Amino acid sequence: MIILDGKALSLKIKEEIRQEVETMRKAGERPPHLAAVLVGNNPASEAYVGNKVRFCEEVGFASTLIRKDASLQEEELIGLVRSLNEDPHVDGFIVQLPLPGHIHEEKVTLAIDPRKDVDGFHPLNFGRMAQGLSAYLPATPYGILLMLERYGIQTRGQHVVVLGRSNIVGTPMSLLLSRKGEPGDATVTLTHSRTRHLSDETRRADIIIAAIGIPQFLKGDMVKEGAVVIDVGINRIEAPERKSGFRLVGDVDYDTVAPKCQAITPVPGGVGPMTVTALMMNTLKARRKEISY
Ligand code: NAD
Repeated sequence: MIILDGKALSLKIKEEIRQEVETMRKAGERPPHLAAVLVGNNPASEAYVGNKVRFCEEVGFASTLIRKDASLQEEELIGLVRSLNEDPHVDGFIVQLPLPGHIHEEKVTLAIDPRKDVDGFHPLNFGRMAQGLSAYLPATPYGILLMLERYGIQTRGQHVVVLGRSNIVGTPMSLLLSRKGEPGDATVTLTHSRTRHLSDETRRADIIIAAIGIPQFLKGDMVKEGAVVIDVGINRIEAPERKSGFRLVGDVDYDTVAPKCQAITPVPGGVGPMTVTALMMNTLKARRKEISY
């Protein structure tokens, strides 16, 4: 059984990006610049944004973290988005989700210039992705594609079962893997909370991608021998033995699933670091204006 080590792979790609930035600098070019907007102080969001800023520093990108109070009004946030759209020194930016309840996330996403939408959440990028045109791919599915590619996991002709149909993970993942090309060319089944006989679906899968947000949901008896399992879930569960009082687990019950797998991602240290890496790849693309519209 192979452990798909997202942490180690992320370090490898980070070094590749760092070298590219160094080459840019030597050529007298400005390094890529990523801005992040954080509204409020959700601890998970603080941690995610912190990781992104740290990654930028380590590869030599410029980064700007804009913190706003949770009372920020929707129009003010949209005004900030517009100023980032127009800032020639910012190549790409993200507005960390979730936003406070009084702000409509979709309005904010729509205000982002698709050419700077390095999270790949804007409908223009989503639509272009769905049609196989050049686009910023959403970071988590893109990170998973990088992982499958770098670990040499073939997807052509394979039966992939995706659990969860969110706009940021499950749905784009299913589109990307069913698209023509490698990784892709898979036969994909997208499952969700209304799917009947879910275990029948997962037991037929060569590759399972679990993104539902239910701790340790996928059990060993739901997986066939030799499957590849990608666990996207990040869930906090109580762990009184730990100083923090909690630990992170995925949507996969690792102990019962891993022994049956050909390959599996751990949590933490699997998909999480690859998501940040993919965001940085998008930022590099933004700096180079590689995505043409
Ligand atoms: P979400 O919470 O928006 O949606 C959950 C999806 O799961 C829905 O489509 C729902 O239909 C489906 N679902 C719920 N119960 C189900 C069931 N019993 N059987 C089948 N499907 C069911 O999902 P999300 O935002 O994609 O997040 C999913 C998980 O992935 C969360 O734990 C989240 O924290 C994690 N996540 C991790 C990363 C990363 O970088 N590793 C990135 C994004 C999300």
